[in-house]
Amino acid sequence: MTREPEIYCPACQWHPRGDSRWICARSKGGCGTRWNTFWTGGCCPGCGHHWETTQCLVCKKVSPHVDWYHFPPEEEAQREKAREVTA
Ligand SMILES: [Zn+2]
Ligand SMILES: [Zn+2]
Repeated sequence: MTREPEIYCPACQWHPRGDSRWICARSKGGCGTRWNTFWTGGCCPGCGHHWETTQCLVCKKVSPHVDWYHFPPEEEAQREKAREVTA
């Protein structure tokens, strides 16, 4: 079983939807492409620019892109493992 990280805003816990769109900001040298940044891990499909930060569409806070990925705590993962072994 592969563990998928949960993706949500580190500031307000908003979960991006499949139809959520971000813009490769022209004001920051981007190309204006609109896409879902979590499909590409922050990489613009238009110009290939890798965005280190992602702005929340709801609370507008800019956070490092990696902070949006929430992996299960290590302890929880090990407990799951133990359960699989004994099951
Ligand atoms: Zn937010
Ligand atoms: Zn771009």
